[in-house]
Amino acid sequence: MTTLIPHFINGQINEEHQALFDVYNPATGQSDKQVVLGSSETLDKAVSAAKLAFPAWANTSPLKRSRIMNKFVILLEENKDELAKIITNEHGKVHADALGEVQRGLEVAEYACSAPELLKGDFSSNVGGQVDCHTLRLPVGICAGITPFNFPCMVPMWMFPIAIVAGNAFILKPAEKDPSAAIFMAKLLKKSGLPAGIFNVVHGDKLVVDAILEHHDIGAVSFVGSTPIAKYIYEAAAKNGKRVQALGGANNHCVVMPDADLDLAVHGIIGGAFGSAGERCMALPVAVVVGKDTHKKLIEKLSIEIDKLNVNSGDQPNVDMGPLVTKEHQQKVLNYIDIGVKEGATLVRDGRNTKVPGYENGYFVGATLFDNVKSDMVIYKEEIFGPVLCVLAADNLGDAIELINSGPFGNGSCIYTTNGAHSRTYTTQVHAGMIGVNIPIPVPMAFHSFGGWKASLFGDTHVHGPEGFKFYTRLKTISTRWGQSDNTASAFVMPTLS
Ligand code: NAD
Repeated sequence: MTTLIPHFINGQINEEHQALFDVYNPATGQSDKQVVLGSSETLDKAVSAAKLAFPAWANTSPLKRSRIMNKFVILLEENKDELAKIITNEHGKVHADALGEVQRGLEVAEYACSAPELLKGDFSSNVGGQVDCHTLRLPVGICAGITPFNFPCMVPMWMFPIAIVAGNAFILKPAEKDPSAAIFMAKLLKKSGLPAGIFNVVHGDKLVVDAILEHHDIGAVSFVGSTPIAKYIYEAAAKNGKRVQALGGANNHCVVMPDADLDLAVHGIIGGAFGSAGERCMALPVAVVVGKDTHKKLIEKLSIEIDKLNVNSGDQPNVDMGPLVTKEHQQKVLNYIDIGVKEGATLVRDGRNTKVPGYENGYFVGATLFDNVKSDMVIYKEEIFGPVLCVLAADNLGDAIELINSGPFGNGSCIYTTNGAHSRTYTTQVHAGMIGVNIPIPVPMAFHSFGGWKASLFGDTHVHGPEGFKFYTRLKTISTRWGQSDNTASAFVMPTLS
């Protein structure tokens, strides 16, 4: 029996589709679910529902909107284990990692509950004769989110909690590969008391994405995914007059200095490179080592830790790494490893023949370590998005920074050092949006904002935190004169209010 994964429109599930897409369990390679792929007509229905619900919601006090979000946080907390199981079943990541993803999303919803504080405007008294000035942050209207497969819960939650508490209606287009988490969250939002039409889920492929980009009634588009699609979304949305933030791919570097706490660095790099099988935009696929002795020790220690890793189905106990998301992606990563060997990099650990008993059809690739990687190699230059770590050598910190800054991406980056001056040089000179010092995956907390530079983000607002509130609101500035005025004559010069 195949289960259909439906849309969620106007508070109801909806199964209309122009096509069906098989959703797999990556650990078993089996599919018993299909997601409905909508059309522009399906999107129209969601937009109509959002349009109808928006005025009353925008008029609801921020405090009442926040109370509903608070209820959602409580329900999410109560149901997080079930949601994590859904994520593991369709994405493949291990259960504890899926729970971590839910937690990081939940924290954005917690932050969104402070909307009454965050939506406060400014006020200036007496900016001119009897004139006061104040600002309002008002909702944009109908906002859409288009999200990637690698965080089916957290990335949508970077967007919709803030959009909703700010008074907007939201339409989510999740990734086709793991679409169930979105529907689970939609049902919890309904249970929390969110009015029908304020949160809708429309599944689909390019057809629905293009319908979003072209829809006259959608005012803002948030996208997270690969760089070529991010660029396309940014250009098309901007051309159609929409506010847009489009987060793209990454190739994050970690620099290990001779003065680093090497054990700390090794554990950080192992988690950063192989956690979630390397399918994180903040993963650490590249380590740049300064100093020959540090290099040698780092490779030895990394190899020891890789040999201890437990690769298995994500729902099994004590697993470090689950499978990749699809067979195609598994093939793509295996192909990159073949390329690395042909390019002449030293294959220190080879994950190509990883077999998991009982899961022979799963999409597993074991942790792979390449040493002596050069900056002109394909395995260094491209985003592999799998459990493949490339180690390069640099003569000094300046060369390491130059290497990082010469690449096209600028998402995250980190340094392992015990020297404050090295840390300061690195944090100020590296061209990336998020930097870690002795922290491998420097994902900002919900009350800060997340976003990269260069080809890792098109647009100028980062997601969640204060920038999220900025993105999902429009600023209105009101100048008011109350009182008697002696001057009733028409003014033909630029008003100076003095
Ligand atoms: P993807 O770009 O293939 O898909 C993302 C979304 O775009 C999906 O909803 C998909 O349906 C849609 N899409 C795909 N092809 C499209 C097309 N031709 N036209 C219109 N829409 C299209 O990305 P993915 O494989 O799901 O996710 C992995 C990528 O996302 C990696 O590159 C990763 O680095 C990136 N990512 C970035 C961040 C970040 O914060 N910068 C976070 C997570 C993932």
